[in-house]
Amino acid sequence: MQEVSPERIEEYRRKMEKLVVRKGFHFNKDRQMVNDLLKSLLINMDRYGYASCPCRLASGEYSLDRDIICPCVYAAPDIEEYGSCYCTLYVSKEWKEDRIPHVYVPERRPPEKVEAGLKAMAGQKQERS
Ligand code: SF4
Repeated sequence: MQEVSPERIEEYRRKMEKLVVRKGFHFNKDRQMVNDLLKSLLINMDRYGYASCPCRLASGEYSLDRDIICPCVYAAPDIEEYGSCYCTLYVSKEWKEDRIPHVYVPERRPPEKVEAGLKAMAGQKQERS
């Protein structure tokens, strides 16, 4: 796996914290998991030029991946309904304090968006071969 320095992860964590606190989200209290997810986001940032969700396949085309740039457009409704986002990077206060059950969050991204991304990836693969 690509190396990302602990200092860069920490800097990104502080930046994201400011942003998500305004949205009323909290980081998961599992610090190691948060760091691993932030590292994956930074790898995606280097790879695609934007921090696409580490738990979903990105196409590499901004227009197709826009909805899954972290924090994704699905995070707020998922946190509202389940207490956490799909990756459990961001959670509600109740979830963080174990006052609600930690349940599996089903994929809220519409299948047609997933399909469009997969098609674009298949096209890119063909162009390369
Ligand atoms: S599911 Fe969570 S980690 Fe993934 S993009 Fe959405 S907010 Fe970020």
